Amino acid sequence: MAEVAYVRSPLKGVDLGSHPFPLEKYEILERLLREELHVPPERFHPAEAIEDEDLARIHTPRYLDDLAHVRETWATLSSELPVTAPIIEGFRRVAGASATAVRLALHEGVGFCIGGGFHHAFPDHAEGFCYFHDMAIAVEKLRAEEGVERVLFVDADLHQGNGTAVIYAEDPDTFTYSIHQERNYPVKQRSDFDRGLDDGTGDEAYLSILQGDLEEIDSRFPSPDLVCYVAGVDPHRDDALGGLALSTEGLQRRDEMVLDRYVAMGIPVAVFLAGGYVRGGEGTARLHLGTARAAEQAVAAV
Ligand SMILES: [Zn+2]
Repeated sequence: MAEVAYVRSPLKGVDLGSHPFPLEKYEILERLLREELHVPPERFHPAEAIEDEDLARIHTPRYLDDLAHVRETWATLSSELPVTAPIIEGFRRVAGASATAVRLALHEGVGFCIGGGFHHAFPDHAEGFCYFHDMAIAVEKLRAEEGVERVLFVDADLHQGNGTAVIYAEDPDTFTYSIHQERNYPVKQRSDFDRGLDDGTGDEAYLSILQGDLEEIDSRFPSPDLVCYVAGVDPHRDDALGGLALSTEGLQRRDEMVLDRYVAMGIPVAVFLAGGYVRGGEGTARLHLGTARAAEQAVAAV
């Protein structure tokens, strides 16, 4: 029987200072998973190590050299994150957590990364709080090690998965879908399927569009071996950076729609938290808890 296996955030102790990204949400979420969803200790897994060769499948030698030497260059300064060794090392470890989540998805059904989803990282530079494209690093590591072939990205973060789109632009075995707020960061790249939404879209329109898009994806890219679900909670109406105006219930229904669908089909799903800027770490972690609840329900229903 499938189960949800969680991967602990490897960012403990990393300090971004007064940065808007609420890193504390990961620790809060782990506590909420234990206290409110009663996830037992054996379902929490540590992140595996990431080797230089894993990074090199996605990122260019020059960019990796800048990161390794903590150099302030165009490629690193574009991250909007401090360029320090502990922060770069922390985000490298996140790619290991993402690899473990994909591995667990393949073996257990759902791999839930407490973190990850840094979809704005490009092969040759950082962008938007993202140094490493943890998900692509994870997918390519598991392709090399476990032979996973056809991969579907369902990216429902408020922001377009621009890095994912560029990395997989020429790969017929990877389908990239992004549903996002059109008039917002970033400069758009071309995914296999982009759904740019108007400001203030709201629950009912959002959910009916998503439903139709998922059905279309079934015919355009049938039977993937793995779904990477990028479950950013920044479409929430209280989000400091977003304007899609989903309610808490709307986000919950979004997560259920995606997770029920693929879990019922028996397709392994790796879940990544990505963005969320709602009332600090606690408010954001509570919304991510809704994604975990949807994952647990989806698994219990099959
Ligand atoms: Zn986002």
